[in-house]
Amino acid sequence: MQRRTVTDCSAGRFAGLVGLPTGGRARVGRRCHDGGVCALDLADLDPEQVAAVRAPRGPVCVLAGAGTGKTRTITHRIAHLISHGHVRPDQVLAVTFTSRSAGELRTRLRSLGLRGAAARVQARTFHAAALRQLRYFWPQVAADMPWRLVDAKLPLVVRAANRVRASTAPDSVRDLLGEIEWAKASLIAPDDYVAALAAHRREPPLDASLVAEVYDGYETLKATPDGLLLDFDDLLLHTAAALENHPAVADEFRGHYRSFVVDEYQDMTPLQQRLLDAWLGDRDDLTVVGDANQTIYSFTGATPRYLLDFSRRFPDATVVRLERNYRSTPQVVSLANQVIGAARGRVAGTRLQLIGQRPEGPEPTFAEYADVPTEATAVAAEIATLIATGTPAAEIAVLYRINAQSESYEQALTEGGIPYQVRGGENFFARVEVQQAVHALRATASRDDLPDRSRRGEAMVSLVRATLASVGFTATEPAGTRARERWSALQALVRLTEEMVGDDDRLDLTGLLRELEVRAAAGHPPTVQGVTLASLHAAKGLEWDAVFLVGLSDGAVPIAHVLHSNGSVADAAALEEERRLLYVGVTRARQTVRLSWALARTAGRPTRRRSRFLHGLVPEASAASRVAAADQRGGARLPSCRVCGRSLLNAGDTLLGRCSSCPAELNAELLAALQDWRREKAAQLSIDARAVASITTLTAIAEQWPTDERALAAIPGIGQYKLRRFGAEMLAIVISFSDSRHKTAGKK
Ligand code: ATP
Ligand code: MG
Repeated sequence: MQRRTVTDCSAGRFAGLVGLPTGGRARVGRRCHDGGVCALDLADLDPEQVAAVRAPRGPVCVLAGAGTGKTRTITHRIAHLISHGHVRPDQVLAVTFTSRSAGELRTRLRSLGLRGAAARVQARTFHAAALRQLRYFWPQVAADMPWRLVDAKLPLVVRAANRVRASTAPDSVRDLLGEIEWAKASLIAPDDYVAALAAHRREPPLDASLVAEVYDGYETLKATPDGLLLDFDDLLLHTAAALENHPAVADEFRGHYRSFVVDEYQDMTPLQQRLLDAWLGDRDDLTVVGDANQTIYSFTGATPRYLLDFSRRFPDATVVRLERNYRSTPQVVSLANQVIGAARGRVAGTRLQLIGQRPEGPEPTFAEYADVPTEATAVAAEIATLIATGTPAAEIAVLYRINAQSESYEQALTEGGIPYQVRGGENFFARVEVQQAVHALRATASRDDLPDRSRRGEAMVSLVRATLASVGFTATEPAGTRARERWSALQALVRLTEEMVGDDDRLDLTGLLRELEVRAAAGHPPTVQGVTLASLHAAKGLEWDAVFLVGLSDGAVPIAHVLHSNGSVADAAALEEERRLLYVGVTRARQTVRLSWALARTAGRPTRRRSRFLHGLVPEASAASRVAAADQRGGARLPSCRVCGRSLLNAGDTLLGRCSSCPAELNAELLAALQDWRREKAAQLSIDARAVASITTLTAIAEQWPTDERALAAIPGIGQYKLRRFGAEMLAIVISFSDSRHKTAGKK
């Protein structure tokens, strides 16, 4: 092998690189600044990205908006550090939050030409990394005390709740588990739970001391006579503790892992940060990337403060900001900027205006439907059209707020014969065909009549195909929805095998089975070809050509529990997080983004309205045409708010002509004058003042300033009778006020 003659082009704390010129593309190519030869081509990065990639070893923080290449930057940085010999691939630990994004990191590393080396970089979720480490170090810290992972947490919570007579209704149990998980992720012990609630301004779902007791009971129940049961959070805690309390463990670990990378750093929990700190010790070889405006896991205890405070903690850090969005068309970028532009608070203060770099694409579309099944059918039809016109199904996603929403789309796609996969829904590894396949592969692995060379490398791919044929895998895709689903799952296993062999041509069947086990434990399924159905949370960090954001009604996005029953905001911070979720959703799309909502769950009376976050974003013509379309299908036509354009659902709002929560330019003096007139008129005619005009009607007049009969007739509550009887007097009052308003405006 040729010996590399790299004279260090970046590790030597080479300050000049950080101040690269901005604009245009960096053509650093293969020849490095100081004449050394790099194995990695950085020509497909912009100057700021290059600055982060080539920053000296040490703390690096990439703080940037969606789609600006944060993940790309860290994969290049890892590849750069490796190809320059600063670290060995197996000394790098890159962590992400979901197994899908860990998989994405691995795939992107592979695509950088690292092949075998990419497979040796540890790109894992926090949980998967901790699980591996704890398995390895456990004998050193707990001798032969047995432990195993908790299979299911809910039954434990039920038992703990029963002990203290707390409710064991399914919703309560889920809420209790949510609290336990939040407390553990926030490093709050059962005894401190009650006090911590106030400090975190968190509303407990049940009586706080009862929750604390259930939490305490849950922890106690995990110490069984047969050994310890550990949940996912315990994995992190125990791993951190092993490093913190056992110098030999810390030495061994730190001797091995030298370089740490965290993607999506805005969503760190205190528990994850504690583990990261334990990994680091007093070292600072840490690259983090994140976007505070994509913080969407606060309810689990995640906080953007570690990202926002990074350069305070590491004053020497190289901080890079990226604004150019490479993922999406300018149309998608513009919508994203508008969605997040309305955000408020500290996090919002860090947002950057994204600048779209891709060629123009279609305008985002907005569609309103009478009910959810109609919406789902229409979305499935549009997906069928996209597929028919060349967009691969795997490049399309339907994103929703809560997993329960997937059902309607599963049904509509099944009816349309469109393959799909549900993210975070059914467990890939629990599917019958996958279990049969793994079983068959194990049987093949244990055969002693096969030559060794057929079990590894390219030959192994054929062996896997032949083995899967025994459980029904065919060379071509079969017809029929269920048969196709089955086939797609098996096909995903074949593709995974091919990919892994591509990385490591010495991989054997035992290695493949081990990888499948690790993936099953970490919940990391291989990619199945088909439309992705996922919650907005699960879509973080991912991208597709076409994205359908569905079910965008108030009460879904934003979710109902951040609102009071009358629609006013109950929790302003949580409302901002909901807005960020929509921002995350929009920014997943490369080319096409379609936003839709339905006015009712099932056919019948409208009960919902469009998400408040779409206020000002929906071109009225498109909303109107969709409502008309809903009408033709027998859906209801509703009056809409003149400020935000959403459908008006209650009588008060309908009379006002706007949502009561929408801002309006109300002239208080005009309203007072109209009220005076109404009182006089009622007295004069000896009728009830409300028979002259309702206060809502007067308010609408004081907001809308009608100065002719037509405009006055458009005010709700003014029919022909009132127009004839009181129209002239009302108009005279408004006109006298608008004259004086003009005069005042003229003087300014
Ligand atoms: P998110 O905030 O959603 O996690 P991100 O900042 O991590 O986004 P990436 O996923 O790394 O962004 O990049 C978005 C897309 O833009 C990817 O398809 C990536 O390959 C592409 N991309 C990134 N940087 C460049 C570049 N300099 N030139 C061309 N394409 C790029
Ligand atoms: Mg990313």
